[in-house]
Amino acid sequence: MTKQNIIDLLKADVFPYDEANEIKRKHFGDNIFIRAILEFSNHCRCDCAYCGLNCENKNVKRFRMMPDDIVHVAQQAAAANYKTIVLQSGEDAFYTPKILGEIVSEIAKTGMSITLSCGEMSFDDYKHLRQCGAERYLLKHETADEKIYSSLHRTSSLQNRVACLKNLKRLGFETGSGFMIGLPNQTLDTIAEDILLLKSIPCDMAGIGPFIPHPQTKLHDVPHGSTEITKRAVAITRMLMPTIHLPATTSLGVVDSFEKDNIFFCGADVIMRKVTPNEFKSLYEIYPSSLTKTDILKEREELESYIRSLNLIPV
Ligand code: SAH
Repeated sequence: MTKQNIIDLLKADVFPYDEANEIKRKHFGDNIFIRAILEFSNHCRCDCAYCGLNCENKNVKRFRMMPDDIVHVAQQAAAANYKTIVLQSGEDAFYTPKILGEIVSEIAKTGMSITLSCGEMSFDDYKHLRQCGAERYLLKHETADEKIYSSLHRTSSLQNRVACLKNLKRLGFETGSGFMIGLPNQTLDTIAEDILLLKSIPCDMAGIGPFIPHPQTKLHDVPHGSTEITKRAVAITRMLMPTIHLPATTSLGVVDSFEKDNIFFCGADVIMRKVTPNEFKSLYEIYPSSLTKTDILKEREELESYIRSLNLIPV
């Protein structure tokens, strides 16, 4: 698929979602993989213009969970039948590679796969975390357009982001990237570049979600990204990279009714559920969303029934 093919598909009158769904089914059958996500700290050194947790936002009450508490929640997730846990945070220097490594080694004893999503680090730090038992890492490139990227970030560059992704790949991590739909100045050309960047890494996972404005950020009056373009971007990524893992992103859930073209029939094969303790959940506000009260066991069961109601299989 050339860049022009991708652009043409993004703006086609009718989109062939069935093709993407068939490719998903060929590789993963009717399975939908469920992951737990634990948001363990909202302290962040970065100033990403779209993110509610950016360090300039003085309205956020900051929290960080202690290592023992993180391990404890992970153990509850394992008991609720989760096979993978994603540990996500802002870029918080409190968790040195040594501390994070100890958390990972402890959680690895539950038998769950561990995914980290804690931002940019050096090759050696990623290497240490890999050795401690982290198998996957999520670090979205956010946008493949250098100009847009630098207009949104002071603390990071697209070049370093991509270098981190390549380092993760070299270290044998299952590597996840992804991007947002609806950032200011983004065009269909940018989105085609985003998809091709996933392929060039090449990524094992990609989270593609609509941008959602947060009232306490510089982008507060930018409208949210299109659900239709988000689904098309997911479907095209599936066509281009048949075995990649593609989550139904939480941000898509915020703005999509799931009535028309359910994302699980557009190429997505993964969904995440928050296991973040209630007291911290609302403080981890990257973008506004309505939150349920955390009940790890009950929410997992409800999600499984929802997936079964679509005639799909929760894993
Ligand atoms: N600090 C980690 C985790 C970031 S939060 C890191 O830098 O990797 C996870 C993802 O949420 C981001 O990568 C971004 O793609 C998404 N995100 C942040 N703000 C958003 C917003 N306003 N709307 C939609 N998605 C957003």
